[in-house]
Amino acid sequence: MRRPGAGTIPAMAKHHAVKDEHLDSRLRCPHDARLMEKVAIGDFTVDRCAGCGGMWFDARELDKVITSKHGVEKLDIGAVVQSNAAGALGELHCPRDKSPLIATTDTTQSHIHMDACTVCGGVFLNAGELQDLSEVTLKERLRSLFKRT
Ligand SMILES: [Zn+2]
Ligand SMILES: [Zn+2]
Repeated sequence: MRRPGAGTIPAMAKHHAVKDEHLDSRLRCPHDARLMEKVAIGDFTVDRCAGCGGMWFDARELDKVITSKHGVEKLDIGAVVQSNAAGALGELHCPRDKSPLIATTDTTQSHIHMDACTVCGGVFLNAGELQDLSEVTLKERLRSLFKRT
């Protein structure tokens, strides 16, 4: 006698692991608390805010990016509508260790303003500032080259 439905039960996928490791590792923008996206530059990644275009550099990442024209162009979306940034949270905090960021300016270009973390050495730049900074850096390098000869 046949009993319909009593056949073998198809193997169920029991291990349906839903682990969003991507999300876990994403930082929140110090400016507007939006999730930042990972942008691959060469062999490392920089975090960029999908909202305001601000960029977070971990210690020494800025140095690597600033000397790479390709990296700067890929990363910096340019100075955008500042209305987004206007809704800032006030005091900025490091997305990694939550310490207050120290507002600092570039030694040669006082209009370039950066927010640096003294704990982890990370730096936050607004959109457009990376381009500014890299231009200055290149000019400074050329100038020092001329000085030596
Ligand atoms: Zn942002
Ligand atoms: Zn930090």
